[in-house]
Amino acid sequence: MGLSDDLDVFVSDAMRGLAMSDDECRLLNTPFREVSFEVPLRRDDGSLHVFRGYRVQHDRARGPFKGGMRFHPGVDLDHFRAFATLMTYKTALVDVPFGGAKGGVACDPTSLSAAELERLVKGVTQRLDPIIGPDDDIPAPDMGTGPQEMAWMMDAYSDAHGYSPSVVTGKPLVLGGCPGRASATGTGVAVATERACAHIGLDLDGATVAIQGFGNVGAHAALQLRARGARIVAVSDVDDARRSAGGLDLDDVARAVREDPEGDPPTVAEAFGDAEPFDIGDLLTQDVDIVVPAAIGGVIDGDVGAALRCRLVVEGANNPTTPEGHAAMRDAGITAVPDILANAGGVTVSYFEWAGNRGGRPWSAAQVDEELEAVMVRAFDATADRAGEDGTDLRTAAFRIAVDRVRHAQALRGV
Ligand code: GLU
Repeated sequence: MGLSDDLDVFVSDAMRGLAMSDDECRLLNTPFREVSFEVPLRRDDGSLHVFRGYRVQHDRARGPFKGGMRFHPGVDLDHFRAFATLMTYKTALVDVPFGGAKGGVACDPTSLSAAELERLVKGVTQRLDPIIGPDDDIPAPDMGTGPQEMAWMMDAYSDAHGYSPSVVTGKPLVLGGCPGRASATGTGVAVATERACAHIGLDLDGATVAIQGFGNVGAHAALQLRARGARIVAVSDVDDARRSAGGLDLDDVARAVREDPEGDPPTVAEAFGDAEPFDIGDLLTQDVDIVVPAAIGGVIDGDVGAALRCRLVVEGANNPTTPEGHAAMRDAGITAVPDILANAGGVTVSYFEWAGNRGGRPWSAAQVDEELEAVMVRAFDATADRAGEDGTDLRTAAFRIAVDRVRHAQALRGV
């Protein structure tokens, strides 16, 4: 099954739970628009490379399309269909007035020079020009992109339309970015974890955590969880896995992030070279209290789900759990905070950035922290309450709330 088929299982289940009509289901299950396009790039050595770019706009009943741009060699239209759908339900669950979209390029950005990357990003923006815009579709960073790529997108779009900071979010601070945007997804993961711990009666103070993925989401989640008393005992990225029963020393990571809040955090090998190495494939099944998948999709399948040894899984990544993985966790009594809840901090602060760019005053760091926490707590509590009322798990409850909100908006707007 593809990623979008996996996601359909969760969405269809919510639709059944809401007793939705076939017409309502068809409307929400069909993406508004799917675009696939060529992106020619003249390499620095003069050769020509043609990449494939995508943007899927899933639904805009609740507001303009919103979602990241992912640059990764493994992506295709099916990936973006699933991720765009997740964005629709994520924005609905945290109740920010956006719809859902996602796009990107099938490429390895680390193999490109800065000049090549700039040409690629600006080429992509030109291709997307007819369908993006501050009131239409607002891209943001995702895997393989960050503030610099958003600056280039804003520049290319502004060339054609005049100064348009609100066409993208996740920009560098000096170009209208929002303080705390780079750490927002990780912070949201930590807030959701804290709330989930209280929900299941696990003391976060002293709890042990394993984190898969040490990019923007994983590294900031580690720092924020440590700040809340947790012990980060194992981490991995694509190249390395390190662990320490007493807790990994995150001071170097904290320093690097303080010195360059918008830059990439250090790699696992750079940050934890002295700690014990172990097999990357064993990260999720470490004997810890909390596991945070914060890398790619589909990693908790039926086998991994059955082999987990934790009490709580907090999904920092998008779509990390297959339906079989979900069932295995449920059978094992493991609580899973679903991606559309756990990693919604990023798009929440994107909303603050967009709103600030569009006429309001820019948000201060303190305001962002306070509001982000409030949004995440409200969304978690609503999800936990719904799970209690319906006698179901957090994922099912989250999708029911989100699908219901989008269905309601769609019904009010008409077709
Ligand atoms: N890429 C992030 C996500 O998957 C953020 C999207 C946004 O801010 O629009 O939620």
